[in-house]
Amino acid sequence: MDQINAVYQGNFDSLDNIQVSPLSRAYTFSDSIYEVIPFFRGVAIGYNEHLARLQRSANAIDIDVDQSLVSKEVSQLIESCDYENGYVYYQVSRGVDQIRNHIYNNNIEIEYFGYVKNHGFEDQKFKVLVCDDIRWGRCDIKSTSLLANTMMMNQAHQKGCNEIIMHKFGYITEAGASNIFFIYKDKVCTPKLNNNILPGITRSMSIDIFKKNGIGVIEDDFSIDILSQASKIWLTSSTKGMAEIYDIDNLKHCISNENALFKKCKLAFNKSFFNL
Ligand code: PLP
Repeated sequence: MDQINAVYQGNFDSLDNIQVSPLSRAYTFSDSIYEVIPFFRGVAIGYNEHLARLQRSANAIDIDVDQSLVSKEVSQLIESCDYENGYVYYQVSRGVDQIRNHIYNNNIEIEYFGYVKNHGFEDQKFKVLVCDDIRWGRCDIKSTSLLANTMMMNQAHQKGCNEIIMHKFGYITEAGASNIFFIYKDKVCTPKLNNNILPGITRSMSIDIFKKNGIGVIEDDFSIDILSQASKIWLTSSTKGMAEIYDIDNLKHCISNENALFKKCKLAFNKSFFNL
């Protein structure tokens, strides 16, 4: 694999050369938060929004993150690479314990880690498995604790799917690594935010873009059954953009290929998201 540029505790190096302690609380407790910041033609997409969400995640778990350091390192990673389209993965952990202990020491040095990766932003299509949302009660925090997501996504993978749609108490929450939109009765709909959903930057950018283009969006609690009557369903994330779902493994559906409203959404989204 090509060299991946990375930074750990202020030192820029190839990802291969970075070494972390097994007593990092990121490793023992998932006591860490992260962001994935896309860039296209060398320009970060939703930069301020990603940094603001990192700050909110840090506040939620009481890590005193140095925003100016994060901002500087994310920019340096983007500038360091010889490709124009990609993303920066950036993670902040509480630090390294002297010995594993649930109760953290307030004086430990915060760990900052990031790398930059090329990414093509090609259109992707997904087949999904509908499953029970077994995650914890604070999915609004962008924590690295993603065991439930990986369990469910790997179960889905064994059934030939590449994403999941989760529901809690019968209400749609989100996908394993994306938010969900759908068209029902000719209206664009998306689950409204609460503690069970990550407030996706691409989700909020989509809503703004659609509204600016005269397309209303209904944000509400939606029963999972409604998806069987949706004419289009798509996922949003920083690396997927707007990605269509073409099939659902375990739910009868009526997703159609051609949909004028979806086409209008996608055109408006691509133009604005990628600044075309
Ligand atoms: N929901 C989950 C669980 C995610 O992991 C992600 C992205 O990784 C998203 C939603 C989409 O968030 P964003 O648009 O900020 O990338």
